[in-house]
Amino acid sequence: MKPLGYVRAGSVEEAVAEFTARPGARYLGGGTNLMDLMKLGVERPTALVDISRLRLDTVEETADGALRVGATVRNSDLAAHPLVRDRYPVLSQAVLAGASGQLRNIATTGGNLLQRTRCSYFQDTGKPCNKREPGSGCGAREGVHREHAVLGHSPECIATHPSDMAVALAAVDARVELFGADGARTLPATEFHRLPGAHPERDTEIRPGELITGVVLPADTAGVPSLYRKARDRASYAFALASVAAVLRVEDGIVRHAGIAFGALAHRPWRARRAEEALLGAAATEDAFGRAVDLELEAAQPLRDNAHKVRLARNLAVDVLTRLAAPAIA
Ligand code: SF4
Repeated sequence: MKPLGYVRAGSVEEAVAEFTARPGARYLGGGTNLMDLMKLGVERPTALVDISRLRLDTVEETADGALRVGATVRNSDLAAHPLVRDRYPVLSQAVLAGASGQLRNIATTGGNLLQRTRCSYFQDTGKPCNKREPGSGCGAREGVHREHAVLGHSPECIATHPSDMAVALAAVDARVELFGADGARTLPATEFHRLPGAHPERDTEIRPGELITGVVLPADTAGVPSLYRKARDRASYAFALASVAAVLRVEDGIVRHAGIAFGALAHRPWRARRAEEALLGAAATEDAFGRAVDLELEAAQPLRDNAHKVRLARNLAVDVLTRLAAPAIA
């Protein structure tokens, strides 16, 4: 029997103080991923700081026209919120593409960002894994890696980030709000998750003890046509082999804004900056989309068994951009 502490926080400040006072603690929101990992012995917290009752469960419009989504807003509530559906359909679609209805009813916005990779070697404590146990090796690199990264991986880790929601947040230029011992700060969603480098044990740029308090969806991308598509082995309740979130504004047949992010290709949502730069000011045609996406995917370094993901991502992205452009050039 392993003792496990538990405390329910009454405020954000109290949550951070309780976490800091209990080495080895974990925050508990919906717990959908944490509980699975505790059962597998991958996560072994000394205590749980329950943040699920904090007043972070609303979606609110800010004075500058942005939307602020609290960290404990449930995934189902986020996807169904009228303002999210109206202004950021890509986010609603991405959330609904993830997990199952039951899981979305309990999983939170903050927890979705912090979920761990589904690499099977990471989840098996009998296998080598640098992310779970730094220095033990990467079982997937020479093992089963059909679903692993093709962009930005390192000799130490080839895992992908499993979130659909985070891909949409990257495409719409969302920011992640954090609170810790040094106070509040925000990070662009595109910089919240890390590439693995030599330290795959660190998934994000979050500092020890920091708590996600919310996500801000900017006014700039509100109402801009957007779309999420995901390719997976079965039609529901499966993680992506590749996914694309895109925000595209076309005026008089010319691309005026493009935000494109790939999911399931890297250790973090992969913002396609090279493709976006190539498209700005270009004619919104399928050929131009194909050339821009090819430029982005030149950086891909597929492994022995996952080159199919590059082609899949390319086709998804061109299809998504072409669909988004169609009403503007019809
Ligand atoms: Fe571990 Fe990353 Fe290798 Fe998977 S890919 S076994 S998570 S080090």
